[in-house]
Amino acid sequence: MVEQTLVFVKPDGVERGLVGEIFARFEKVGLKIVGMKMMHADKAHVQKHYAAHLEKDFYPPVENFITSGPVVAAVLEGVGAVSLVRKIVGGTEPHSAAPGTIRGDYAHMNYAYADGPAKAKGLRNVIHASGNEEEAKAEIELWFSKDELFDYKLLHEKHTRG
Ligand code: GDP
Repeated sequence: MVEQTLVFVKPDGVERGLVGEIFARFEKVGLKIVGMKMMHADKAHVQKHYAAHLEKDFYPPVENFITSGPVVAAVLEGVGAVSLVRKIVGGTEPHSAAPGTIRGDYAHMNYAYADGPAKAKGLRNVIHASGNEEEAKAEIELWFSKDELFDYKLLHEKHTRG
C-alpha cells in the first residue's frame, strides 16, 4: 500500500520558477519527499528513461526538450503514491488535462501545436510522474542511488499520546 514514485519537474517548470509550488502540492496531501536533486539529464539518461518511446515520432523533440536545461527529480512516498501522484499531475496533454491538476493549471499546450511547426521544442507539460508501480520501481533505480534516498518520519508520524 505504501508506495514510492518518481517525479521530475521538466526544464519548462524549472525555468518558470514552479518547483516550489509543485512540491508544495505534494507535501500538502501528506506525501513524503524521500529523495530530491537537481540534475542536467544527458541524452543517454533520457533514452533509458523513455526507452518505451524511442521509436515514436515525438521522441526526438522530447529528448531535445528534457536535455535543454536542468530538471528537479524527486522520489515521493505515501499510501497509493503512484496513482495519487498521477492524479495530481493530470493528463499528458496540458490542453485537455483537468483544471486543478499541475498540467491543467500551469500549462496549456496541445498535441497539434507540439506536433506542428514548433515540433522541435517538444510538448511542454511541466512534470513527469511514473505511470504505474512497475515503472516507478525502474525509474527510481535509474534516477536515484540507494544513498540518495532517506528513511525518516514526518512530524505527524512521530505524534504519540504520551
Ligand atoms: P506521460 O507519462 O503522461 O508523461 O506520457 P507518456 O509516457 O505517454 O509520454 C512521455 C512524454 O512524451 C510526455 O510527457 C510528452 O512530453 C511526450 N509526448 C507523449 N505523447 C506525445 C505526442 O503525441 N506528441 C508530442 N509532441 N509529445 C508527446
